[in-house]
Amino acid sequence: MPDSDRFHHAAAALRPALVGRPLIGFVDPGLDGPSPRLGRVVESVEVQGRRVLLRFDDDVIIDSLFRSPYLAAMGRRFVGLWYLYREGQVWPYSESDVAVALTVDGWTAACVHPVSVESYRAQDSRRHPALGGQGPDISQIGADLGRVLHALLFYPDPEASMAEVFADQRVFCGVGNVYRSEVLWANRLNPDALVGSMSRRDLMTLVNSAAGLLNSSLDQKSRRRSEHQFAVYGRNGQACPRCHDTITVSYIGPAEHELYWCRGCQTRHDPVREGLRPLRNGSDAAEEQRRHVN
Ligand SMILES: [Zn+2]
Repeated sequence: MPDSDRFHHAAAALRPALVGRPLIGFVDPGLDGPSPRLGRVVESVEVQGRRVLLRFDDDVIIDSLFRSPYLAAMGRRFVGLWYLYREGQVWPYSESDVAVALTVDGWTAACVHPVSVESYRAQDSRRHPALGGQGPDISQIGADLGRVLHALLFYPDPEASMAEVFADQRVFCGVGNVYRSEVLWANRLNPDALVGSMSRRDLMTLVNSAAGLLNSSLDQKSRRRSEHQFAVYGRNGQACPRCHDTITVSYIGPAEHELYWCRGCQTRHDPVREGLRPLRNGSDAAEEQRRHVN
């Protein structure tokens, strides 16, 4: 069953049980954000990709994100979802499996093993970069780096790669293809690193480093000085200046932006090594195998 069908089926089961009924119980050990008050009513259950959103009549939204079953299987993790139980029915889960549970007359809905579950008020659109416009231009001195950090910390898809996130104009702009490669290299960051696996400190370091590199590199004098001196950009097949491994090029996202990087030293937060993600495709798998054989 495709992911989307799974989530639409779950939402279709939740709606007749929950919608229009006042909340009589709420347990939220895993929830980040405001809780709906007892007596409030679920107004809708919506699906957006791998997210399931429950909206209450006081504008609180419970926003849950789940893994794709494929990734979950590769990482030997649970495939989570919302499950519905009749009053008095024994759950097949322990309390630690449940991130949020809400009870209305006759039914309890449990959010089991999500990637993340958070809540926010509908009018607080700043909370979600998906709803905002273009992010700050971090090539400008004085750019609002706090806002960039916030957008990264609350990125809508924690399983997006840093290479993808770096191309997302809602987070920040002004980086461009060249410095996307250079910033990731400077931080020894694997381009496939999952944004959700990065700590606040990691992200803060990265944002400061990106802004610093752009500010100094885009300055006219230093640009002349450093012309043709990129560490990795445009240097496919050449030796990495740091570890002397071979620089490679990957193509990121639907626009297939070129991303140059070094497998030898850009190993921080590598999701394959950390068991968070399978190899991306056949050619990567073949290459990885060659590297292990050699
Ligand atoms: Zn290297």
